[in-house]
Amino acid sequence: MENMAEKPLIEDYEIELEDPACVPGAPFYAARAQFHNDVSEVMPYLNAVLERAQYGAGNRYIIWREGDRAYALRPHELAVSTIWERQQAYEFVHKAVSRINEIWERRDEITPDYTTRSKPRVLDILKLLPRTNCGECGLQSCMAFAAALIDGTHLPQNCPPVMEDEESLARLEELGL
Ligand code: SF4
Repeated sequence: MENMAEKPLIEDYEIELEDPACVPGAPFYAARAQFHNDVSEVMPYLNAVLERAQYGAGNRYIIWREGDRAYALRPHELAVSTIWERQQAYEFVHKAVSRINEIWERRDEITPDYTTRSKPRVLDILKLLPRTNCGECGLQSCMAFAAALIDGTHLPQNCPPVMEDEESLARLEELGL
């Protein structure tokens, strides 16, 4: 009998687009794909393949960055943030879904990684910022910016002063930001 092709893990999904105005101070679009099936089982495989992902097995999420973008996968949702152009949003979501499906299809060749890597703490990030509350990032304080880095609604590049501090930038990168 002919083998039936396996269905993709994420097949049907609906995309919602958030304008930058929805996220105070964020100069980006964000997109969310919602799906009905629970995709938690793919997370340890993504954790094995993606670099410096933040995997919270108990809380069932995985967050990773690629280039300028931040991705967060939860059981029924994929969020992609830091999208500069509205028309790119759908393309980035479709590409990320394809990648997740492709990793799931290859799961027999991948050793799942259950190592958890927590989200960095706001205070640990704050220590690496200039703490001048100058507002150049569009937010009112460095504390708000630290929280926005964790959420993925801002990037280190949005803080001009920190871009001049190589040591802090390197440490932010080590934190997966
Ligand atoms: S631009 Fe940088 S230093 Fe200025 S408020 Fe934002 S995070 Fe703080």
